[in-house]
Parts: sequence; structure tokens; C-alpha cells
Amino acid sequence: MGAANFVAIEARAILENVAVIRYAVAAVASQLPFTIPEIEEIKVAVSEAVTNAVVHAYPGEPGVVRVRVEVDDRELTVTVEDDGVGIEDVARARRHGWSSDPERLGMGFYFMEEFMDVVEVSSAPGQGTRVTLRRRPEQVAPSAAEPSATVN
Ligand code: ATP
Ligand code: MG
Repeated sequence: MGAANFVAIEARAILENVAVIRYAVAAVASQLPFTIPEIEEIKVAVSEAVTNAVVHAYPGEPGVVRVRVEVDDRELTVTVEDDGVGIEDVARARRHGWSSDPERLGMGFYFMEEFMDVVEVSSAPGQGTRVTLRRRPEQVAPSAAEPSATVN
């Protein structure tokens, strides 16, 4: 197996940092045997979660978004956390097509759910929001499928 790894990023919650975080997550995800289309889907899901922290969490001055990306021998886990306004009704917010902003489509959680195996949302008004995204590669790494008896 590849060594377990994690990278933690703390960034100002501004749109410029969505790409920074997306690239960092993709680089860590590449340590598992994800295909390129899988990596692209992970990038979309992470971008949606981070964009939500940027556009919804801090109605006034931008705060901080914290992202932790972890890989173990079989799974990628990304947590995206803010200290913003929080979500009043998480079930409603997760409904496809629901948005608190009439200018938006309410599709962010839909993409996260489409492209990740697990999406967990923990949030309370005034206490911020944490979104946890998990995905396993479809294919098994050759080294994981047939562990080598010898180590050189
Ligand atoms: P789109 O993602 O299509 O631009 P959207 O951001 O409104 O639209 P979702 O990403 O599905 O849609 O989020 C649904 C709703 O959940 C948001 O409209 C917002 O009210 C709330 N929400 C999501 N993330 C956060 C967050 N980090 N902090 C506060 N509210 C959030
Ligand atoms: Mg969104």
C-alpha cells in the first residue's frame, strides 16, 4: 500500500483559494489509484464544498476555511470546515435545487453526492459548517491486489 498521508490547509475564504485547494486535493488524491475522470469528479465536489464556505459562510468579511485531505491505503477523505453562519436546516439545504440565494441553482450538494461515496454535513447556526467527503478508487492498485512477497 501507499503510505498514509494527510495535508491540512487553512486559507482565507475567498474565491481565489478555491483553485488552490482544488489542486492540492487533486495532488494528494493522486497518491491513490484514482483514474483521471475520478480525480476530475473529486475536484468538482471539493470545489463545491469550498465555494460554499466562500459564498455562504461569511456574509460580511471573509473568514477562514480549513481543509484536511487524507489518504489511507484505500480511501480519500476531505473535510472542509468554516466558522461561519452555519446552516439552519441541513436536510433542506441538501435538497437538490434548494438555495438560500435566488441567484444560485442549489446544485452544490447534488454534485458532492453524485461524485463522492459519502457526504456528511455537520452544521449549526452560528457555529460554522463541516462537510466530510469520502471516496474510494474504483480500481484496486496492483500492489494492493497482489502484495509483493519481497521488498527490495
Ligand atoms: P450552487 O452551489 O448551485 O451555486 P448553492 O450554493 O445555493 O448553489 P448548495 O451548494 O447545494 O447550493 O448549498 C445549498 C444551501 O446550503 C446554500 O444555498 C446555503 O444556504 C447552504 N450552505 C451550504 N454550505 C454552506 C456553508 N458552508 N455555510 C452556510 N450555508 C451553507
Ligand atoms: Mg453551492
